[in-house]
Amino acid sequence: MLIKGALAALPGEEDFRRVDILVAGEKIARVAEAGSLAPEAIGGGEILDAAGLMVFPGAVDPHVHFDEPGFTHREDFLHGSSEAARGGVTTVIDMPCTSLPPVTRLDALKNKLAAVSGKAVVDYAFYGGVNGQDGPEAIEAAIAELAPEVVGFKCYTVSGMETFAAVSPEQFALAYRTCAAAGRPLLLHAEDPGVIRAAQAALSEARGAAALSWKDYYASRPMAAEVEACSGALRLTGADPRWLHVVHVGTAAAAALVAAAGATCETCAHYLAFDEEDFERLGAALKTAPPVKEPAQKALLWRQLAEGTIGFVASDHAGAPGYEKFTGDPLTAYGGIPGTGTLFPYLLSEGLFAKRLTLRRFLEASSVAAAARYGLSGGKGSLEPGKDADFVLVDPEATTTVEPSAMYSKSVITPFAGLRLAGRIAGTFVRGTRVYATPRLAARGVGPGAHGRILAAPGSGKHITWGYR
Ligand SMILES: [Zn+2]
Repeated sequence: MLIKGALAALPGEEDFRRVDILVAGEKIARVAEAGSLAPEAIGGGEILDAAGLMVFPGAVDPHVHFDEPGFTHREDFLHGSSEAARGGVTTVIDMPCTSLPPVTRLDALKNKLAAVSGKAVVDYAFYGGVNGQDGPEAIEAAIAELAPEVVGFKCYTVSGMETFAAVSPEQFALAYRTCAAAGRPLLLHAEDPGVIRAAQAALSEARGAAALSWKDYYASRPMAAEVEACSGALRLTGADPRWLHVVHVGTAAAAALVAAAGATCETCAHYLAFDEEDFERLGAALKTAPPVKEPAQKALLWRQLAEGTIGFVASDHAGAPGYEKFTGDPLTAYGGIPGTGTLFPYLLSEGLFAKRLTLRRFLEASSVAAAARYGLSGGKGSLEPGKDADFVLVDPEATTTVEPSAMYSKSVITPFAGLRLAGRIAGTFVRGTRVYATPRLAARGVGPGAHGRILAAPGSGKHITWGYR
């Protein structure tokens, strides 16, 4: 296939370049100045006229909960990966804690692979889990046997899940040492349990028997919880904290601590887009843990993302049906946003097009940095010869309104609903195959509807792991 005349976002460049991209099989074979590759060079292959479109590397979403097997009433790999493709994401990394059994042993991972392998339409990697219910020997054994099959390990300082418990400081320190020795990042959900307990006690005293409001939910998980958990974790990682990665940071002071120590962190689109004031309007649709923060944090997080203090942005995709979200009680409503389909469009519009991020930082934040952090950059993360032909074509002149009815995820309850964004995805390709396309990019003989559709077969996505090329 020859993609002709697209404005390409190439690695390390500060501006777009008009190029032709030659795809051979599943890989990018050549990237050359527009017009310099003769159509004959590809034999009878397809020529895709991309004049007027931008081409970006497919986004890497390094934090999704696709819930399969075990909690598929919330999400599964077919729906989740289809929604990823719709949003320009070509690689997802799935969390170990929200499937059954949790991925804390090799047999659980094999069970998960068997359950999902015929379903995904984008490529996927996994994290292993460090469960606070396990003793030291089990934690070491789990990391050793899972390391070849996963790209990192995940643990929690506080957990709302019965099947996946938080770790103690001793368990965290052991898991960190073991992960570092195995050469895999340890991902931490960082909210200090002591700070949260104190905040919740103060709230119950203040409210008595009165029902809690959404502002109270925010107050129950204050910003100090993130700061304290990050400094606590950094004390336990010792002299070399490079293998620590803090997930879904919403507090700029916590991100600053992590980066200054030499560890890494991510934020999520919802922390950049919303704040506690929005709970009044959005309620359960906005609930996540940690919650979105005070209004001033958004601009601080954007600046940290622009400077590289925050390495990349993830969706923390975690949907749930209405009966679990709309319980009428801020404390019991399911926490999570199905965000993998809005991650790239949001960052593109509000980061790159709104000039909060340079092109180079946008690429790092949406694909390059996560691929590098999780050992995937040999094959993923940028438009370069030899890498997978994972890319997303964007019409920069069109706009996108986030419409729940167009989403493929099982849950479409999203605080982004109705948001108008600059740019519109025209198509998403994984290893040279059209996975999602709007009418503009429909394959010959295929007529998708007005909204675009998924064209790849379930199971076309493949399992990848550390060192992939
Ligand atoms: Zn998560």
